[in-house]
Amino acid sequence: MNTPKMTRLSVAAFALVVVALLAARLAGLVGTDRAIHLALAIGFGLASVWLSLLGRIALHWRILAAMLLGVACGVTLAQVGAPELVRQGIAPLGALFLNLLKMIAVPLVLFSLVAGVASLEDSAKVGRIGGKTVALYLGTTAVAITIGLLVANLLQPGSGIDSTTRDALMASGQAEAGTKIAAARQSSEGVGLLGFLLGIVPSNPFRALATGEMLQIVFFALLLGVALTRLPGGAAKPVVDLFQRLSDAVIEMVHLIMRIAPIGVFALLAGVVAQFGEDAARLGDVLTALLGYMATVVIALLIHGAIVYPLLIRTLTKVPVRRFLRAITPAQLLAFSSSSSAATLPVTIDCVEKGVGVDDEASSFVLPLGATINMDGTGLYQGVAAIFIATVLQVDLTLVQQLEIVLTATLASIGTAAVPGVGIVMLIIVLRQAGIPEEGIALILGVDRPLDMCRTVVNVTGDATVCTVVAASEGLVRDEETAAT
Ligand code: ASP
Repeated sequence: MNTPKMTRLSVAAFALVVVALLAARLAGLVGTDRAIHLALAIGFGLASVWLSLLGRIALHWRILAAMLLGVACGVTLAQVGAPELVRQGIAPLGALFLNLLKMIAVPLVLFSLVAGVASLEDSAKVGRIGGKTVALYLGTTAVAITIGLLVANLLQPGSGIDSTTRDALMASGQAEAGTKIAAARQSSEGVGLLGFLLGIVPSNPFRALATGEMLQIVFFALLLGVALTRLPGGAAKPVVDLFQRLSDAVIEMVHLIMRIAPIGVFALLAGVVAQFGEDAARLGDVLTALLGYMATVVIALLIHGAIVYPLLIRTLTKVPVRRFLRAITPAQLLAFSSSSSAATLPVTIDCVEKGVGVDDEASSFVLPLGATINMDGTGLYQGVAAIFIATVLQVDLTLVQQLEIVLTATLASIGTAAVPGVGIVMLIIVLRQAGIPEEGIALILGVDRPLDMCRTVVNVTGDATVCTVVAASEGLVRDEETAAT
């Protein structure tokens, strides 16, 4: 269906809804306020449907507009006390959109990585790219955490919290903190270097595929790709071609799914906002108390995201920073809306290949690895949170303890799933290592979600930056003319 036709249909549907609400109002079924708010919310929803159909406007603008509509819809419905409507009627659409993306993440990584590795002329390249990738991922994470610690030491966000506020915050987050601490205990059991290595090699690759164990899938795909290159006399060609075509097809699926991205992010944000709205009174107090802490995290994230990454792109690649940023904006917006770098992965791959011009030989390996082992934003946030909690609980941190935080947070980010909220679970491990009471996470739980949204943007930007840098060092970035922007 073409856009003008859909626009007319949307307007007609909206008019119908308004008439129905008016009738319900006249019949005394709903109050004036509720009728107006419901009409507004439905209007916002239809506008996001319309945004999905506006092919001419760049995708990132349409996603951004849909995000704003989602916030407006969430606020409107929260005002008339209709969070149920969001939870049951709108939020599932966001979950549906995320499921679509998650559905293709595993096949995309498998197909593109096998095809990418099998088509490499020299197998030493795999090792070289791997080495650079891991070194850059760990290096950028350590820099991010250091920035977080420096900014937190400078701004001292915990020093303004008095004991009454502290006790109130601790009490409000106590129950949830207990659950998170139990989860952290479970996830840190048996972790060590050998445990980590054991976790990478799947005993059954099909189980790894079925459960979405990204590192195990990467390992299996790499080995399969290398094995294919070793088959004699071009015997592997049909198989490599098959994987290549399957990979092309899955990328095409990303494009199809992204057509409904505005509806998806609209629903995701409406869901998040309505959830906040439900306990607005409590959140109001928490927000005021934690404003300094939140500002510190955001400032540090901005320094890392807006200075360190552009600097890396500028000095280590020939890709113009503007082109890079413009290309990855859809992935960043999606990361913000979904709080999950894993769900964003298919879009990140598409943006980096199509927009930045990185060859899939590099992106199919570097990006899936990054979604799992690289979490700069999360590490940085852990640095700030650790200082904040230590200050509020009056624990003095020595320089050595702070360096320990850098080390533990860098290592903790490896092998942790990139899904909403894992950052706070990893934080517990970091706190324990630094000798800060882990119950302290209760202080910051109330504002974890908005910060999770921000740090996920940095996580995804970090993956895309390292991928571009590694690809550039191998001559695997197409020039501007051939990269679609
Ligand atoms: N949500 C983040 C991600 O998926 C992880 C976290 O910081 O909780 O990248």
